[in-house]
Amino acid sequence: MVSERSNKQIGQESTNRLPDEWRNVCEQFVKRISPAHRTAVRRILHDRPCAAGSGLRSWIEAVAFRHSPLPVRIPTPLVRTYLIDPEAVPLHECEQCGIAIPVRPNRSADPEDEPELVYFNECPVCHSRTGPFLYRGSRIV
Ligand SMILES: [Zn+2]
Repeated sequence: MVSERSNKQIGQESTNRLPDEWRNVCEQFVKRISPAHRTAVRRILHDRPCAAGSGLRSWIEAVAFRHSPLPVRIPTPLVRTYLIDPEAVPLHECEQCGIAIPVRPNRSADPEDEPELVYFNECPVCHSRTGPFLYRGSRIV
């Protein structure tokens, strides 16, 4: 029998299956960004699947499931980067405060290659150095 559920119903069911941690972090995240970006970010976080914005969702996943820190006020340039570059992903982090930092990865096959585009050499929250594994790497002893 063919299901007669609408795409909206299916989308709602998909959202409802997301873990509580994801929904809680999404709510916190949206409250901490500029009001000017809230509608666009909500759309990216809740209208699945959507290739654009996968970096923003990766950031939320890192906060929800890998204890990546989230500051009280999320700097607007960080959010704007994900909104203007659909290839941006949070592969770098701040050495001091640990916030996830977006880069555009290199399209070459070698994952060790430098990113194609590094947006923030300095953390927009605390002005410390940014790079891969600087925060988590310094805490693995
Ligand atoms: Zn920082």
